[in-house]
Amino acid sequence: MQKSLASNRIIGILGGGQLARMLSLAAAPLGYKTCIYCPEESGPALDVCHSNMVGEYNDETKLKQFADQVDVITYEFENIPSDCIEFLSKLKTVSPNLNSLKTAQDRLVEKDYLNKVGTKTAPYANVSNHHQLDAAITKLGLPAILKTRTMGYDGKGQCLIRTSADIADAYHLIDNNTHGHCILEGFIEFDLEISVIIARNAQNQIAIFDPSQNDHKDQILHKATIPANVSQSTIDRAKKLATDIIIGLDYIGVLAVELFISTKNDEDDIIVNEIAPRVHNSGHWTQDACYVSQFEQHIRSICNLPLGNTARHSNAIMLNLIGNDVNKITEYATMPNASIHLYGKLDIKEGRKMGHVNLTAPLTNQTKP
Ligand code: AMP
Repeated sequence: MQKSLASNRIIGILGGGQLARMLSLAAAPLGYKTCIYCPEESGPALDVCHSNMVGEYNDETKLKQFADQVDVITYEFENIPSDCIEFLSKLKTVSPNLNSLKTAQDRLVEKDYLNKVGTKTAPYANVSNHHQLDAAITKLGLPAILKTRTMGYDGKGQCLIRTSADIADAYHLIDNNTHGHCILEGFIEFDLEISVIIARNAQNQIAIFDPSQNDHKDQILHKATIPANVSQSTIDRAKKLATDIIIGLDYIGVLAVELFISTKNDEDDIIVNEIAPRVHNSGHWTQDACYVSQFEQHIRSICNLPLGNTARHSNAIMLNLIGNDVNKITEYATMPNASIHLYGKLDIKEGRKMGHVNLTAPLTNQTKP
């Protein structure tokens, strides 16, 4: 049996944003320190870590120095170059593994994998040029969404094609994308979006939080609500497919699975939108509504500790503070059930995630699942 990482050891985290900040904050009570590696000289995680190294993700000399300083390595975002993870994996254990990262980085590879493990996705076709887009539209029909295969987030690198009048914009997306690599997805008429946050450690122990229901504004997550407005059978099915996904990848750490739910038929239709190989914005509610947060769970997984109890003691609504929303902070500070989490970002910018608030309501006998 693989041993747990001893306390006082150092967890290396690639990326210095808010997710690395909250991972660092969760590592401390377990007795671990974090060392942040990122190209920026300041950022949310650098305010709260034990140490940091400033370096590019392709600087092998610096990456080697980083690996020498830490005991285990993880990352806070999936757009990290896979060459960087491949290089570091030869020096230290990196969790989640390289294959999981590569799968989540490329929407085509991801959809192929999801279908291979028997989960349902939107119908899709590989598109690299105008001719292939025309053929894909003939095959899948309209409406459809063209997405870049890599580097997309918060709806960036996407073009909704409602009618043939939108095809010119889609051609533009192909022309402006490296090698034109895109994927066309059939449009899913879903009723709600949920996500499952699941964790696995090297002992193959698996722990799953109840899914949140997610609402977006301008393609950015605005609100996550627990419990989601879905039946227990849909929750159980969603958890089962997340389990199949995490096992198939031999994945260690926290994984987020985003799902579309259509409620038109007797049994809800569950379609996997995408996976994120990291802690996820839709899991921030766990900080104040569960015994163990997604951040602590990720640290436990990658350090090979037993996983924590995912049961919640409260229902919750997580509200993102985007741009000027952060100015409402004094309002939230007067609310007895609001827990505030700011990321320490200096400049307020439109669309920038500045923090979040968790509004909780303890479970009563009526609200207990
Ligand atoms: P993504 O970056 O793939 O998570 O997409 C961002 C958002 O666009 C999702 O949260 C959905 O609301 C919407 N979306 C993405 N793909 C589809 C699809 N195939 N059908 C309908 N809506 C979609």
